[in-house]
Amino acid sequence: MKNIASYLNPISRLGNNKYTIWFAFFTLLTITILSEVFCYSIAKNPLIVGAYIIFTHVALIIYFSFRDGIKGGVTSSLLAILYYFYIIYTRHYQGGQYTSGVETTIVLGIIYVVLAFVIGWLKQTIDVLIENEANEKKRLQTIIDQLPVGVVITDKHGKIVQANKKIDALMGFKFPVGFTVGQEVLLDTKNKGKTLNPSEGPLALTLRTGKPVIDNELRVTRKDGKHLHLQVSAVPIYNKDGKLIAAASITNDVTAQRELEKRKDDFVNMASHELKTPITSMKLYIETFLSKSHSIKDERSIKIINRIKYQMEKLQDLVTDLLDVSRIQTGKLVFRKEEFVLNTLIEETVAGLQEAAKNHTISFTETKPVIVYADRFRLYQVLTNLLTNAIKYSEEGSPIKMKLTNSNNKATVAVKDNGIGIPKDQQRKIFDRLYQVTDAKEKTFPGLGMGLYISREIIRRHRGSIWVESEKDKGSTFYFSLPLKPLKKD
Ligand code: ADP
Repeated sequence: MKNIASYLNPISRLGNNKYTIWFAFFTLLTITILSEVFCYSIAKNPLIVGAYIIFTHVALIIYFSFRDGIKGGVTSSLLAILYYFYIIYTRHYQGGQYTSGVETTIVLGIIYVVLAFVIGWLKQTIDVLIENEANEKKRLQTIIDQLPVGVVITDKHGKIVQANKKIDALMGFKFPVGFTVGQEVLLDTKNKGKTLNPSEGPLALTLRTGKPVIDNELRVTRKDGKHLHLQVSAVPIYNKDGKLIAAASITNDVTAQRELEKRKDDFVNMASHELKTPITSMKLYIETFLSKSHSIKDERSIKIINRIKYQMEKLQDLVTDLLDVSRIQTGKLVFRKEEFVLNTLIEETVAGLQEAAKNHTISFTETKPVIVYADRFRLYQVLTNLLTNAIKYSEEGSPIKMKLTNSNNKATVAVKDNGIGIPKDQQRKIFDRLYQVTDAKEKTFPGLGMGLYISREIIRRHRGSIWVESEKDKGSTFYFSLPLKPLKKD
């Protein structure tokens, strides 16, 4: 029954098949005969019957043109005309108006065929467009189903129009096509620990702002209780006139990666805590040995113990950095802020490092005393890190210039070297955890890539900023600035 209905439906594509001509022939013939019989029995007037038949045929031609395109329309027109000639021919023998009948039939025939052509052509064009769109959708669906990431596509109102298999697998249910994003809660989702308002979700945000949202990390709790770390990016889609027409999101499951990172962080945290105590006691023993050697004036032992002490201090610095990194990760880096003169801290740090870096001259240009409200030890850590990097990444003997300026309620410190420089594309990344610039041709430098990360976090926690200006092989200048207004304690 459903099939018959859809076969007769002029919009349905099911009707367009190899039986078009037969279908047109039998339908036209049956309806014509039925109409004639029906009209004669009621009207009994050949003119009314003729008008009614023409009306029926026009309706049928429109129907067939719609159903089967030009082929259906033209077939039914020709059949109708043939039928008229048949009537004329039979009437001729009965003494009817042969000549005028032929002319009217030819005019009618032309009208029918033109009508069939126009409607049929329109229908075929619409069909091609519908089919193209359906094919396009199918092609896209096949491609996105193969992707290893979740994909969701919405229209401009946020209604989901397509989603792939991966997103269903990630969410643990069939992603609801037809659902409008940004309105209802789909899953318990957290962004940086806070429950995410659906209107702040990546797709809703990209549709509202018209801008891409890149790598938004969300923590999702599925209905079965499983926790996932998802990295979601969303992009707006514009048509050729620049009008927003849709949006798409890409979801990457980074749960395994984050769990591994957490295990690694926990291990580093534990290991550095375990290392701290023996190093501290070893340093104490070394000090005891050293003072004993001094008292008996054993020069050879003093020399060896001093070397051990130096290596021990390097090891202690490394463990301190490792501990700081894990404190940053867990949000446990503590600050003890006080008011002090930044100039003095810089002078002391430069003097201390100049002692160790005999081959470099470190100069310091300063303004009138600048008072900051900050953690003295942590700023000392930042200054030391920038200066040791300047020494480490430049030729022996090349000058290092430090400058302190005070403008716009900000103190800005610059550390300039003439060293190896940093390529433009890596300048943002060097502040990331454990990031080191790699260049196969360069000689490798010792280090773990923690110093700038720790420095950035310290400066951030002082509501300041840190950045670099550099060109490869032409040296670097690292800057950090701190607000001068007294800050409230954190
Ligand atoms: P580390 O120096 O221990 O590797 P940092 O976090 O201090 O770690 O620095 C990260 C990376 O930035 C370094 O490995 C180096 O490649 C680059 N870098 C830092 N300071 C400089 C500098 N003054 N000149 C050139 N490269 C630098």
